[in-house]
Amino acid sequence: MTTSDPTSLPEPAFAGGTRAITTTPVVGMPRRPYAEAFVPGDEALEDGEMRVTVLGSGNPWVTRAQASGSVLVEIGNAERDILILDLGSGSLANYAALKLPANKLDKVFFTHLHADHTADLITLSGSYAKIGRADRPVAVWGPSGTEPRLGTRHFVESVQEALAWDTAGSSGPINPDSLEMSVTEFEFSRTGVVYEANGVTVTSFPVIHALSGAVGYRIDFAGLTVVHSGDTCPGWPLVRACEGGVDLLIHECFPPAAVLAAATGLSIERATIALNAAHTSPTGAGTVFGLVRPRMAGLWHTFLSPQVIPMIFAELRAVYDGPVVQTQDLTVFNVTKDAVLARQGRVADQLPPIAGEQRVAYTPVQPEPPAWWAEQRIPITDPAPRA
Ligand SMILES: [Zn+2]
Ligand SMILES: [Zn+2]
Repeated sequence: MTTSDPTSLPEPAFAGGTRAITTTPVVGMPRRPYAEAFVPGDEALEDGEMRVTVLGSGNPWVTRAQASGSVLVEIGNAERDILILDLGSGSLANYAALKLPANKLDKVFFTHLHADHTADLITLSGSYAKIGRADRPVAVWGPSGTEPRLGTRHFVESVQEALAWDTAGSSGPINPDSLEMSVTEFEFSRTGVVYEANGVTVTSFPVIHALSGAVGYRIDFAGLTVVHSGDTCPGWPLVRACEGGVDLLIHECFPPAAVLAAATGLSIERATIALNAAHTSPTGAGTVFGLVRPRMAGLWHTFLSPQVIPMIFAELRAVYDGPVVQTQDLTVFNVTKDAVLARQGRVADQLPPIAGEQRVAYTPVQPEPPAWWAEQRIPITDPAPRA
């Protein structure tokens, strides 16, 4: 069931809405009941299921309502693997809200190296080690560029180098191995498998965005397929990568240039250039959805306001009538053979971190203080800890 009436869309979460922004939150017949909102910790991932959560739905200018680009994929395999596609600014605040263990977040797939897709790598490598990601390096996969300095390897190694003070200051209390990063750089221009483990296959394909060296990803698990465009103009490699059917296609979508300019204060010229050189309009997204015909489609990387959303759907509905969700931060998709569901997460803003199972034993070591501290430090006798 679809409707082209955009007035029936739920409000965005930041304006008080509690549901996913769509008129078709369910495709198919779920085999089990799902609560109306997704409440982290209340709902175990089932065997054979994929749960896809948008951690960052927004733009480079991160707001309290929208973190920058990031999509989390939880896999219902025996290992309950977690993959993260991009790490935009603020996205890990939303990860923390999901009550998922820090220790499991160690597989990162970059679509490209724009700052709004990569900034929280520092948070993951440096700061998540301080809250429990304690037993192994962060593994990063990402595309090559047209020269080595434009590739993922150079980026990750440079971030690692820039973290020298953090790493030196944290080793001892924290297992130094967990402060490392490993990199697998693959050829950006080739559609091919870049990761295969525990029943999960990740395929990368080139996309059209700003420079050569941006990709999207297809994730296959247990007969289910999720495709994420990354940042892109409409392009054929994505459509071809969707062959065989897709359960969930999350495609980027910018508002029409005039709307973007009016909503953000960008000049119409800048907004038009951004859209033409790097991004997809609602008509473009609808056209791609029409070519792919996914069971469920999601729009992503969209500046959201209550005024913009109906305009996006009105433009998109002129070319596509299938199920579409305008994703926002903490839009959650449950993907199974029986159904694809879109809901909004209901989360707490201030949760203690969950470290999770530590797979390597490590005994913290008190670091040797710099000699000059002895004279400069004010002696304090703290009360003994109470049992
Ligand atoms: Zn980008
Ligand atoms: Zn972007």
